[in-house]
Amino acid sequence: MAKFSLDDVDDEGGVAKRRKTQRGGGGETSNPPSQREIKGGEASNPPQKETGGGGGEIGVTIDPDLLDCSICFYPLCPPVNQCENGHVACPSCWSKLQHKCHICNLQVQCRNIALEKVLEAAHLPCTYANLGCRKSVSYSQRQVHTDTCEFGPSSCPIPGCAQKAFSGEWLGHFLKDHRFPCSHFIYGQSCTIRFNQGDPYFTLFGPDKELFLLVNEPVLNIGNALALYCIDLAHLCQNDFSYELMVDTDSGSNTSSVQLKSQVVSIKEWKRGEVRGSFLLVPLGFSLSGEMKVHVLINKKLDVIPLD
Ligand SMILES: [Zn+2]
Ligand SMILES: [Zn+2]
Ligand SMILES: [Zn+2]
Ligand SMILES: [Zn+2]
Repeated sequence: MAKFSLDDVDDEGGVAKRRKTQRGGGGETSNPPSQREIKGGEASNPPQKETGGGGGEIGVTIDPDLLDCSICFYPLCPPVNQCENGHVACPSCWSKLQHKCHICNLQVQCRNIALEKVLEAAHLPCTYANLGCRKSVSYSQRQVHTDTCEFGPSSCPIPGCAQKAFSGEWLGHFLKDHRFPCSHFIYGQSCTIRFNQGDPYFTLFGPDKELFLLVNEPVLNIGNALALYCIDLAHLCQNDFSYELMVDTDSGSNTSSVQLKSQVVSIKEWKRGEVRGSFLLVPLGFSLSGEMKVHVLINKKLDVIPLD
């Protein structure tokens, strides 16, 4: 793989050397290197190179600033327009500048097709590659993918809360900011939790830092609906988690109980008054003390180790 350094490309257009002061979206998880390797063509099924034929892909080391709008610093994406002197900017900035160049004040004149082709051909790993995303995205579409990548941060599902976090970071938020009661559990082992009938949430924290939310939704004149959710299992297989709930009555000498077995459903946002998927209905008067005593069992499918 041949490597070319474009570090010292002439930046007459003021494109490359300016330091970035802003970036949109839920972008970088760590300080990005000032240079990244950008590959031409698709990462999956790359064309077979002919040995000695001179065709196929080449690896190019390029300063990504060269591919960003020099005004707003967002990645350029087609159509890329330029002035008579070849200065480029993104469509949004051209529009704000009323189609006059920010450097030489000339009117926007034509498209820069060559740069558009470079933007489409240049592919980078997803911002969240270190978290497991294997997608390779074109430079111009990278921000769009980053904003919707299933490996990106999830939003807190609690109404009115704008917190975003990665899995593993939710426990602190729920305990500190929402002050939900919490209990640790072990997969495959039943644990008993107690909470007030009026408490809307109870958090269950697993040994693998996976966090589950027991939602307690009152149903008018009927009772309480209980269901277990995971914050965002998009990056995991939802079928890997199942759970069982059992609530014993404490009303007098009656020893009945209600029980539910179900798959865990993932939620991205929660609206009060709404129950998704299966739920356990605890009838009114089932818990006379006002305290719910719930036996919870969460199961996780063991990883299948392939046999040779
Ligand atoms: Zn711009
Ligand atoms: Zn210009
Ligand atoms: Zn991704
Ligand atoms: Zn929150």
